[in-house]
Amino acid sequence: METKSSSASKGIRIVFAVLLLIFIGVSAYTIFTMYNKTRQFEFETIYTSDLIISEEKKLEELTEKRDELLAEKEEIMNYGSSVKAYHDQFFELAKEFENRVVNGQTDKKIAYLTFDDGPYRMSYKFLNVLDEYDVPATFFYLKKCEEEGFRDEWIYDEVYKRVIGSGHTLGNHTASHQLGQGGIYSSVERFISEIEDNRKFIEDRYGYTTEVMRFPGGSPTAGSRYEPIVEELRKIHYAWVDWNSATGDGGRVLSPQEFRDNVLDNTNGIKLLVVLMHDYSDNTLIALPEIIEGLADQGYYFLPLFYDSQAMNR
Ligand SMILES: [Zn+2]
Repeated sequence: METKSSSASKGIRIVFAVLLLIFIGVSAYTIFTMYNKTRQFEFETIYTSDLIISEEKKLEELTEKRDELLAEKEEIMNYGSSVKAYHDQFFELAKEFENRVVNGQTDKKIAYLTFDDGPYRMSYKFLNVLDEYDVPATFFYLKKCEEEGFRDEWIYDEVYKRVIGSGHTLGNHTASHQLGQGGIYSSVERFISEIEDNRKFIEDRYGYTTEVMRFPGGSPTAGSRYEPIVEELRKIHYAWVDWNSATGDGGRVLSPQEFRDNVLDNTNGIKLLVVLMHDYSDNTLIALPEIIEGLADQGYYFLPLFYDSQAMNR
C-alpha cells in the first residue's frame, strides 16, 4: 500500500519532470531562434552593399560564394528546364483565368507587376516583399553580370536565380538598354542582336528561355523602326508589352505615398493592369506593400506575364 508521503514525493517528482521538460523545450526553442536569427543576419550582411564595400572580409565571402555558385552551375541548368515545365502548366491555368476576367465571368481583375532595368544590388529586397505577399511578378532585365564587373557578378547571379526559381517571369529588356544615337534603335539588326544576346546569356547561364520582352523606353521610342522590329520579334518567338499603370519612379523621385497613389488612384477599372516599376527605387520599395494591398483590395489578383497573355502583343 502506498503511504501518503511516498505519493507526495511521487507528485513532486512528476512536477519536477514536467518543469524539466518545459525547461528543455524553452532552451531548444531559444537556441533554434538564435540560430535562425544568426542565419538571417549572415544573409542580410552578405547582401548589404555598404558592408561589401567597407569590409575586406566580405570580399573573401564573395569569392567563396562565387566558387559555390560555379559548383552549382550544373544543378541550375537542370533547374531551368524544370521551371519551364512548371511555368507551362501554370500559364495554361493563367490563360483560362485571364479569359474569364476579360469576358466578365468573374469580378476579379489581374495586375501584372513589372520591374525594369535590373538586376540591381537591392533587387533581393523587392523579391523579399513579393515572397512575403506570395505575389508573382515580371522582371524585364538586362545582361548585367558581365557588364558591371566581377565583384557584383554573384549578387546578380543570385537575383536571376531567385527570379527564375520563385515563379516570377524573367523578361528580356535588351542587353545594353542604350538609347540615343548609336544605341539599340539605330538599326533593326542592332536591336534584334541585343535581344538575342540577352536571351542567349540567360539561356546559357540558367537554362531558362525568355519569350516576353519590353522595349527600353517603351515601344514608341523605337519610332519608325517599330514595325520592322516587331516583324523580327515574331520570327524569334517574342511577345512584347508596354504598360498602362506606373509608379512614375523612372522620372522624378517622388515620395512613397505619391508612387503608391499614382498606381492606386489610376486603375480606372482596367481589367488587365500592367504596372511599370523599377527595382532600383527606394521609394517604390517602401510603397510596394501598400501597392500590393491596395490593388488586392480593389479586386486585383497578381500574375506573372507570359507569352500567350492577352496583355501581351504578339
Ligand atoms: Zn528600361
